[in-house]
Amino acid sequence: MPSYSGNIFMIVAPSGAGKSSLVNALLSEDPSLILSISCTTRAPRPSEQANKHYRFVSTEEFLAMRDNQALLEWAEVHGNFYGTPRDRIHTALERGEDVLLEIDWQGARQVREHYPQAIGIFILPPSIEALESRLTTRGQDAPHVISRRLLAAGSEMSHASECQYVIINQEFSTALLQLGQIVAATRLRFGTQAARNAELFSQLGISKTLA
Ligand code: GDP
Ligand code: ADP
Ligand code: 5GP
Repeated sequence: MPSYSGNIFMIVAPSGAGKSSLVNALLSEDPSLILSISCTTRAPRPSEQANKHYRFVSTEEFLAMRDNQALLEWAEVHGNFYGTPRDRIHTALERGEDVLLEIDWQGARQVREHYPQAIGIFILPPSIEALESRLTTRGQDAPHVISRRLLAAGSEMSHASECQYVIINQEFSTALLQLGQIVAATRLRFGTQAARNAELFSQLGISKTLA
C-alpha cells in the first residue's frame, strides 16, 4: 500500500467530449480536489488564461522540463506537446490530497507506471455527431483544428478499455453525478479510509494492511 492517502483520478477523453466542463463543475462542488495544471506548447484559446487552464510554454522550455525530469508524464497530442508537472502531484499526494489529471491515453499509461493505483475515468460522447457539434459550438478552435481532433477521436476512444470507469456524457448533470460517485466510492476504499482514519483504525484494532 502507498505511504500517502491521496488518490489520483485521470480523466481521459477525445477533445470535445466534455472533460474540462465536467472537471470544472466537479471542482466547484468539491474544492478540496487539486487540479493539475498541464504545460503545453499549444497556443492559448481565446477563453484561456495562463496558469489557470494551462501553463503555456515554448517548445524549448517544454523540452528542457522534460529533460530535467520535471514532468511526471508527457505526450504529443494533436501536434502539440502536453505534460504534467511532477512537483505539485507529489506534494499533494503526500499531504493526502486527491488530484485530478486531464490527460490523454498515452499520459495515463505513464502515470500508471509510477502510480499503479491511479484511477482512470474515460469520458465518451453520446455519438460522433454530438462530438462534432460540441467542438463546433464551443467555438474555440479553427475548422482545421476541429477536423484534426475529430479524426483523432476514434483512436483516442480505442483506448477506453484501459480505464476502470466509463462515463457517457449525454445529460451533463447525470455525467457530473456519476463522476462525483466515482470519487466518493474511491474515497471509501479500505486503503484510503485506513490512511485517513489511522487513529480510529488503531483504536479499533484494525490492521492497516489489506487482507
Ligand atoms: P480538449 O481535449 O478539447 O480539452 O483540448 P486540449 O487542447 O485542452 O487538450 C488536448 C489533449 O491533450 C486532451 O485530449 C488531453 O487528454 C491532452 N492533455 C492535456 N493535458 C495533458 C497532459 O498534461 N499530459 C498529457 N499526456 N496529455 C494532456
Ligand atoms: P473537452 O474538455 O473534453 O474538450 P469541453 O468540456 O470543452 O470538452 O466540452 C466541449 C463542448 O461541449 C463545450 O462547449 C461544452 O459546453 C459542451 N458540453 C459538454 N458536455 C455537454 C453535454 N452533456 N451536453 C451538451 N454539451 C456539452
Ligand atoms: P486541448 O488542446 O484541447 O486543451 O487538449 C488536447 C488533448 O491534450 C486532450 O486530449 C487533453 O486531454 C490532452 N492533454 C492536455 N493536457 C495534457 C497533459 O498534461 N498530458 C497529456 N498526456 N495530455 C494532455
